[in-house]
Amino acid sequence: MHIAINKVHFPVTTLGFGRRLGIWTQGCSIHCPGCVSRDTWDTEPSHRIALDELLAGCAGWLAQADGVTISGGEPFDQPDALRELLKQLRARCAGDLLVFSGYAQEMLAAQHADILALADVLISDPFVAHAGQTLALRGSDNQRVSLLTPLARERYPADLDRRMWEPQRRLDLMMEGDDVWMAGIPEPGAMAKLREKLRAFGYATTTSDQPVKVRA
Ligand code: SF4
Repeated sequence: MHIAINKVHFPVTTLGFGRRLGIWTQGCSIHCPGCVSRDTWDTEPSHRIALDELLAGCAGWLAQADGVTISGGEPFDQPDALRELLKQLRARCAGDLLVFSGYAQEMLAAQHADILALADVLISDPFVAHAGQTLALRGSDNQRVSLLTPLARERYPADLDRRMWEPQRRLDLMMEGDDVWMAGIPEPGAMAKLREKLRAFGYATTTSDQPVKVRA
């Protein structure tokens, strides 16, 4: 079994409970206008990796992680690989498994109930730029949080679906060669502001909300 992956990182502190392993899948067919992760859309075969290899590379992190967040890209565009990934993570990690998807909750429940049964938390529905962005853990306020298991209800606030962002938004920033990437959910317009600031310091910058491929 293979899975297309954009990146993997530990620790991620901005996308769920505690210090988490973050896995970003590669490939998204939804193409929400205004998406800040356009670098995750393409489905080139070079992104594919054997699931066993991915899990072996994550073993040390999984032993320490409070949970795993799977984002993308669109994880449910690879349903067989996602199902197997969640099964394997469940066997290797006592923490919660949180999955983001741009598909509607109803579609996921109808077509992928077996996959949802392996997750603790689902954050669903497409990014809609004009819906506003005041609610925690979501890129836009139309998106919905589902706490699917007792572990999720123990760890996450019962009112998480209505909880607002804290006044000071946090992002995890990482450097890889010439690239800087962030985990978390930036405020609307943050990428353009970042480009402007860096331009003022003499750096021409491309960010992942622009319609060009920024990562190999
Ligand atoms: S916001 Fe998510 S679902 Fe929407 S296009 Fe971007 S990666 Fe795909």
